[in-house]
Amino acid sequence: MKEDNCIFCKIANGEIPSATVYEDEDFRVILDMGPASKGHGLILPKHHFKDLCEADEKVAAKLFPLAGKIGHAMKTGLGASGFNVVQNNGASAGQTVFHLHVHVIPRYEGGPVMVSWTPGKEDGKELERTAEIIKDALHMQNGDDIT
Ligand code: 5GP
Ligand code: ZN
Repeated sequence: MKEDNCIFCKIANGEIPSATVYEDEDFRVILDMGPASKGHGLILPKHHFKDLCEADEKVAAKLFPLAGKIGHAMKTGLGASGFNVVQNNGASAGQTVFHLHVHVIPRYEGGPVMVSWTPGKEDGKELERTAEIIKDALHMQNGDDIT
């Protein structure tokens, strides 16, 4: 299903031309117009999902294997020595286009690495408490009985 006014729906379904590196019945992989490095790719599902939480599981299950294949081709084809797989969900996580997509960013020797976070400090008890909250939320999602 496509959504009106979604730029990635139009690109994924070929209504707007793009530098395409791969296409199958579920996906189109294009080059990002504002690349973090040479060859920065975007995996676009042809179906519109806002983000990973909305995605069909069958489509979602194909994303990682495809990202691996694209990344491998960046290494053999472009001479990248590594790559990052990045996927943003929600504006607070940096998502700017609200059609699910996966970034595959080739990295080169001597080039910049992915912007990383500054590790915080959390004691074991706090980690346990946080883990419990997420575990409970998962049970609720799955409709499990919580005891
Ligand atoms: P996000 O921040 O949502 O994870 O990533 C959106 C990405 O899509 C950005 O890196 C941006 O450069 C790229 N982008 C946005 N619009 C277009 C477009 O029309 N064509 C292409 N090729 N890339 C786009
Ligand atoms: Zn869309």
